[in-house]
Amino acid sequence: MIATQQIAGNNSGPFLRQPKIVVMHSTRSGQVNFSDSQELGATLNWFINPEGASSHWVLSELERVRVVKDTLIAWHSTYLNGRSWGVEMTQPTIDRPFTDGHYANAALIGQNYVSLGVAPVWLDYWDGDDGSGFVAHEDTIQGRQAGKSDPGPKFDRARFISSLNPEEEEDMKLKFIQAPEGPEWATNGTIKMGVTSPQIKTDLVNLGLAEGAGLAHDPFPVAQEFADWLIDIAAASGGGTSTGFPDFEIIGTAKAK
Ligand SMILES: [Zn+2]
Repeated sequence: MIATQQIAGNNSGPFLRQPKIVVMHSTRSGQVNFSDSQELGATLNWFINPEGASSHWVLSELERVRVVKDTLIAWHSTYLNGRSWGVEMTQPTIDRPFTDGHYANAALIGQNYVSLGVAPVWLDYWDGDDGSGFVAHEDTIQGRQAGKSDPGPKFDRARFISSLNPEEEEDMKLKFIQAPEGPEWATNGTIKMGVTSPQIKTDLVNLGLAEGAGLAHDPFPVAQEFADWLIDIAAASGGGTSTGFPDFEIIGTAKAK
């Protein structure tokens, strides 16, 4: 799993059909003196309180918390909940900057939603129609009606979207080489994968998901949570080697306990 923590947050049961929109939020406790981790903790408490709200993910500078499964409806945009996924980023007040950690976590989770069919584009407005992409809560019809201002001007939309759209698309393709079957494939919480893109490998290393040594086109160990995430995606898209994620392909099915 790509999550650094998991909790079972408020939800309304399964989606009738899979969303094509991700609504991006910020948490906005209003507590000026809250640290980032205090903001995260307060948000998670609220998201398990039946009087509260929820989202599919809460991202802080250091954490990616899975709150509601992607198959279930979370409570983030009232009447649009049944048609969208919701991602919250910690931000106590509108003027608190987002950090590199927030952007890295948003990129990883955003790429996950792209792999599930969400268009890697930013929408300036969403009225609940059949479009696809990422949109600010403040720019949904529901958010405007409710006077929402999240995630606000501190969130760099262009930076976020560019993290979903690698510039050199051909170079960014990862190819996974044949991995040996059996338990030796997963050792010390890693599995071996092959890549053709130095940049993707660098990104994975920077996110703490891969080891830095060796050439990018050689197999390299990745964190077990990342390997499990890829394998789960492959299983969800019918098994086999396709992850549905444009840059990844898995060969082999070992999953370490
Ligand atoms: Zn919001």
